[in-house]
Amino acid sequence: MSKIVVIGAGIAGLTATLRCVAAGHQVTTITKGIGGLQLGQGTMDILGYMPNRVERPLDDLAALADEHPDHPYAILNADAVRTGVNYFAELVGEDLLVGDPERNVFLPTAVGALRPTALAQPSMMAGQLSDGDSVVMVGIRQLKDFYPGLAAQNLARSTLPDGGRAAVRATYIDLPARKGEADATALTYARVMDDPTFRQLFVTAVKKVIEPGEKVGLPAMLGLKDPNSWREVAEGLGTEVFEVPLQPPSVPGMRLNQTLVDKVKNARVRWVYGSQVLGGVAENGRLTGVVAGTTGHNVTFPADAVIHAPGGFESGALELDSYNHVFERTFDLPLAGADNEELLHGNYWGEEQPLFRVGVRVDEQMRPVDADGSAVYENLHAAGGIIANANRWREKSGDGIAVASAVRAADSLSTPTTAAASGAMDSKGDN
Ligand SMILES: Cc1cc2nc3c(=O)[nH]c(=O)nc-3n(C[C@H](O)[C@H](O)[C@H](O)COP(=O)(O)OP(=O)(O)OC[C@H]3O[C@@H](n4cnc5c(N)ncnc54)[C@H](O)[C@@H]3O)c2cc1C
Repeated sequence: MSKIVVIGAGIAGLTATLRCVAAGHQVTTITKGIGGLQLGQGTMDILGYMPNRVERPLDDLAALADEHPDHPYAILNADAVRTGVNYFAELVGEDLLVGDPERNVFLPTAVGALRPTALAQPSMMAGQLSDGDSVVMVGIRQLKDFYPGLAAQNLARSTLPDGGRAAVRATYIDLPARKGEADATALTYARVMDDPTFRQLFVTAVKKVIEPGEKVGLPAMLGLKDPNSWREVAEGLGTEVFEVPLQPPSVPGMRLNQTLVDKVKNARVRWVYGSQVLGGVAENGRLTGVVAGTTGHNVTFPADAVIHAPGGFESGALELDSYNHVFERTFDLPLAGADNEELLHGNYWGEEQPLFRVGVRVDEQMRPVDADGSAVYENLHAAGGIIANANRWREKSGDGIAVASAVRAADSLSTPTTAAASGAMDSKGDN
């Protein structure tokens, strides 16, 4: 049993943690806060755009790697991504993610675009529309974050994956989540939807505004804890319903996050929340521990190996200073793409911003490497948003990279035991 420290509690850190526990390691997960999972759509994106919409994400990874030989998917091939995605889907279970990693589905967004993703929550799947479908988008007057008219207008104009069109209209119900609530979010509604009594009130209200034969699009708020709440709504309405994810706080993202955090906490992981890892303690090219800032003092956590999953710029793992210098805040790791003179340019929606591709370069074992390709520390592995050379939000590749790299990192941990074994093999080969 090796002592593993995982840094970060985003999709990459949580997945790596559980994979290490399953392999029998003793794991400490240190995080300064929650990860990006609950800001996202609550789906699993492998590859959505290249730049055109992708239908078979795993088939297209090779073409992406040919075009960008430094892309994380060039190291994490289709098999690694399939393994990572299937592992993640198994962790969260079929109540939360369904679909086929080989084939994208196209689901309506809150502005009525069709967004490609590989796996989605079962409550979203009826949003796969076909030619001739009749759809009604239902908003709630007291929920400001969902405009059914906007979603309906754009969806009605969209060409569906089968080349056809759907007839889409919009309507509202009037149903406060709580008496006197002035500023209800989807989260407020999701919490009250966990109560069967409110759910019944909701069904009764929606029933009055829908027509027979219509599929019903609803803001993603059909319950936070009860995974079957949406099924009850569909049964009550007697038709297919689909949830449409909204901006943060994202209820489907929170469902995934909470499920994984609960699993980590139940897995005898040492869970250090609210502490930032400030650096490492190294000896002979290996980390022997990491130093984390806790209340009032710094604590060293011993480690046989470390999985570094701190995210990118959005989580503060990477920082750009006023001299246009990018640095990695925890271990001051060498960064690829950081020497570009124009990291950011004004054409925001046109050319891609080189800054988005900055990160650490990794070897096959996900170990950050220097300019010569040598591992910076023999037992430091990286996972997720810290890895260089992907434009995640544009490609819709962030989730696939995160889970595939987390699983690869966990499976190839360089611990004293494995180092000794490979040393033994080396010396055997020399004889
Ligand atoms: C605007 C935007 C839109 C995006 N849209 C998409 C999309 O549509 N589809 C997609 O697939 N991807 C998208 N991405 C990318 C996706 O969000 C990331 O790939 C994903 O969140 C990375 O997960 P992660 O676990 O690596 O990092 P995060 O989710 O960022 O988690 C990092 C964790 O590390 C912790 N941490 C950081 N530093 C330290 C430290 N020193 N010590 C302790 N803890 C630390 C943080 O608190 C956090 O818990 C988008 C990204 C952005 C910025």
